[in-house]
This record gives sequence, structure tokens and C-alpha cells, in this order.
Amino acid sequence: MIFTDTHTHLYSSQFQDDRTEMIQRAIDAGVSRFFIPSIDSTYTQRMYDLEALFPDNIFLMMGLHPCYVKENYLEELAHVEAEFTKRKFYAVGEIGVDLFWDKTFLKEQQFAFQQQIQLAKKQGLAINIHCRDAFDETFEVLQGEKSNDLFGIFHCFTGDFSQAERAISLGLKLGIGGVATFKNGKIDQFLKDIDLKHIVLETDSPYLAPNPHRGKRNESSYTVLVAQKLAEIYNLPIEEIARITTENSKDIFGI
Ligand SMILES: [Zn+2]
Repeated sequence: MIFTDTHTHLYSSQFQDDRTEMIQRAIDAGVSRFFIPSIDSTYTQRMYDLEALFPDNIFLMMGLHPCYVKENYLEELAHVEAEFTKRKFYAVGEIGVDLFWDKTFLKEQQFAFQQQIQLAKKQGLAINIHCRDAFDETFEVLQGEKSNDLFGIFHCFTGDFSQAERAISLGLKLGIGGVATFKNGKIDQFLKDIDLKHIVLETDSPYLAPNPHRGKRNESSYTVLVAQKLAEIYNLPIEEIARITTENSKDIFGI
């Protein structure tokens, strides 16, 4: 069985004491493909160092996270573009709109999101979307960029059924993680009505640990717990969940 964690911050300082053991634990559990979203330029070297630890298992994305769109966002966008000229990445991410913490830079967040979608199209790559308390503002940008070469993942999808359908209609798959295992997480109630071909697994480690680890540090080996929940929801063997969601991840990332 091969599980794919399509969104995991394995470079996080929360793993500084046991990073290698933690990643090895995931690989031993069958989670052997890790897709790593970028935050901003201060994380770039840490991402490269992480990749060097497990080069066969770690696949990097590059992008500017919406929470890090601040006064210097144009410089940060230039950094993203410059990195793409130097080496291979597997998606542009994580990018999007986040109004949970701060609405000050909404316009700049939307601009950065749109610019990076266009960068992804130019590179023939997927996007990895971060959206928090900002469905309308995120869809506004996506709608304007709707086209055959727009594709990717709506990471940590926590919307309702109609928002799920809307995301799928834009060429996106839904990244499902720990929230699906929460009692009040809501998405478990309509997920069975969404074809598994639109679903990928993720942890968003070190955040959003699935039950029974809710509230504690998340890690990529817990991808298996999310898969178990999906096996219940879809009434399928976990092997099928692993196979189909890993196939879906290959469609997105090209590897
Ligand atoms: Zn993330």
C-alpha cells in the first residue's frame, strides 16, 4: 500500500528534534510520498535541506502563502518566480486567500493568488490552494482564471457540498485531512456523495491532527488515519483508498 500526503510541512521547527525518525515512521506506515508546500522566502533553504534528507520521497512546491502576503509581497513573488528558473517544483503552492487572521492585505492576497495561478499555467503545473474564511474571495479569483490548464488541489477542504462541486467544476481535487475525522467536522456527512476520483489525502502536519490525536502535533504517518476514515465513509477497503488517492495525486503532480 502506498499513501500520499499531498500537503505536509515537514520542515517545520516542531519536528526539529525527531524529523528523520518521524519521516521514517511515515514511510514504515506506507506513507512514502510527501508533497511540501512553501510559505515564503525565509523557508526556502529549509525546504531544500529537507529534500536532501529523503530525496526519493520528498517533492517540493514553491509559492507564497496568503498569510505571508505583506508590505513586501512583490519581492516575495519575485523570489517565487526566480526559484522556478533554477530547478524543478511539482506545483505552485500554497497560494490563496486567508481572512481568518487579517483582512488588511485582501487585495494584495488576491493579486498574489492570481499572479501565481498564471505562473502555474505557464509552467504547466498544478496549484495548491489555501483558503480560510474566504470562499467568496478565493472563488472570485479562480472564476476569473477558469480554463483547461487550471488544475490542482483545494487543500484542507472544509466547505459544504455546493462549494465542493464548485471547486471540482474548476478542475480541482479536494485535499481531505484530519478535519474529516472530527466529530463536528461536517465534511464526513457529504463526502460519500463526491466521487473518490476527486479526493486526495493530506495531513497539513504539524497542524490539524486527526482523531485520536486532535489538538496534538500532527505528522505524516497519520495520513493512514484519514484513509481509514475514508474507508468507512466510502465503504471500501483501505487498500482501495490508498490506491485511488495516490493515483489522483499522480494526476495532479505528474509524479
Ligand atoms: Zn499548509
